Amino acid sequence: MKEVKNYINGRYTNSIEDKYFNNINPATGEVLSIVHEAGRKDVDMAVCAAREALKGSWGQLTVSERTEILYRVADGINKRFDEFLEAECLDTGKPHSLARHIDIPRGAANFKVFADMIKNVPTESFELSTPDGAGALNYAIRRPKGVIGVISPWNLPLLLMTWKVGPALACGNTVVVKPSEETPTTTAMLGDVMKEAGVPDGVFNVVHGFGKHSAGAFLTEHADVDAFTFTGETGTGELIMQSAARGVRDVSLELGGKNASIVFADCDLDKAIEGTTRSAFSNCGQVCLGTERVYVQRSIFNEFVKRMKSSAESLVIGAPNDNSTNLGPLISKKHRDKVLSYYEQAVIDGATVITGGGIPEMATEYSNGSWVQPTIWTGLDDKSKVVTEEIFGPCCHIRPFDNEDEVVELANSLPYGLAASVWTENISRAHRVSAKLEVGLVWVNSWFLRDLRTAFGGSKHSGIGREGGVHSLEFYTELKNICVKM
Ligand code: NAD
Repeated sequence: MKEVKNYINGRYTNSIEDKYFNNINPATGEVLSIVHEAGRKDVDMAVCAAREALKGSWGQLTVSERTEILYRVADGINKRFDEFLEAECLDTGKPHSLARHIDIPRGAANFKVFADMIKNVPTESFELSTPDGAGALNYAIRRPKGVIGVISPWNLPLLLMTWKVGPALACGNTVVVKPSEETPTTTAMLGDVMKEAGVPDGVFNVVHGFGKHSAGAFLTEHADVDAFTFTGETGTGELIMQSAARGVRDVSLELGGKNASIVFADCDLDKAIEGTTRSAFSNCGQVCLGTERVYVQRSIFNEFVKRMKSSAESLVIGAPNDNSTNLGPLISKKHRDKVLSYYEQAVIDGATVITGGGIPEMATEYSNGSWVQPTIWTGLDDKSKVVTEEIFGPCCHIRPFDNEDEVVELANSLPYGLAASVWTENISRAHRVSAKLEVGLVWVNSWFLRDLRTAFGGSKHSGIGREGGVHSLEFYTELKNICVKM
């Protein structure tokens, strides 16, 4: 059986306490590999290695030497593109067609983009007048924050992990990464790529395990980690923030969402149907930016629902390696139980099930996988848990609205504030509504159109801080002001 090991100080290492867990293929239910679980000692070794590496050659590199290494990391991922693709799709069950265009290329791009950013970023300076007339000059320099704890989720494993490791290393930090227990493989594979690219030992470390009472908690409880960057559920973010409070450590939190799509009657309906279908069902609905609430102006409501139904029913659920597949399974049986509990709750709450609502019939090979049907409801009360809580499955509720003020209030009515989409051909309305939405990201007439130089993050319960482009500098560096009296 294949083993997935921790990667500490430039070497793949066994679990010191001899603890292991199974990595399951969610498409088939089969065990893919045995994962070495990190205990407190493994995590401590990883943190110590990361601390030492800061003092070694890594800390002495010039920016251009560091960025050359990061370009080689990106090239290293691209060289092994098919291996990363295969591993990511086995761990997640996601279609190759999706991971080939998003997960793996973005995993590589995250190193290039932040290498480019760090080479070109200016720092501020201010001249100050003083009573003696000689004046003073203030200038700022940035220094790495130190050892960064990176804790990542399972929905876009390589992409979201490198989204943090890329800027962390570009800024000169070292990292200890705790990937999701559901998807450990591609993060572990990155160890080899780092080594070949010339990243010094100890700069990139990986510890596997779970959250509470396991590697995740051991990492956040470790006093020698300087800051934590986390993507995952809001509740987990709160726990990480509590641990980080000891020692006044910084956090960057990219958390859950319950995102709205707002469809005005003056939209281009073909584009709105295509975009809303993608945002509700891509990656089997397991995208933090995905749409679970759709608000449609009343005059086009029936037409919209009818077309969304046929759009959802045209999606092909099937083998991840089949190029015609649109939808893979959910990540695990446990997650499927959660999603199905909302499917049941919707019916209890009186929803009209427009399509889906259950488990699809699959070929024998996939009958033990975590499959669910893409599902659309109408008719639920705004207070139903199905409409207010993040489900993280391939589903959405569609509700009619009459005017702009009403829909802005509905969209803003939840504690989450990650993303929204607005569909309208009226440019003034697009700007007006976008500015009123209490979220970190708004797409007008699109969804998931990403420019990695822009700020990314959520407001309210969806997160703290922004990453992306120069915004990542705020978290991954300490800004120091130096005031020189003339
Ligand atoms: P999760 O919070 O269950 O787990 C995320 C990571 O945290 C995993 O590595 C897990 O092992 C670790 N963890 C869990 N408990 C911990 C603890 N007490 N201490 C330290 N680490 C702990 O999230 P998930 O189920 O893996 O991912 C799905 C969630 O992520 C959804 O809520 C989704 O919206 C969110 N998400 C947000 C974004 C964003 O950019 N805002 C992006 C992707 C996913």
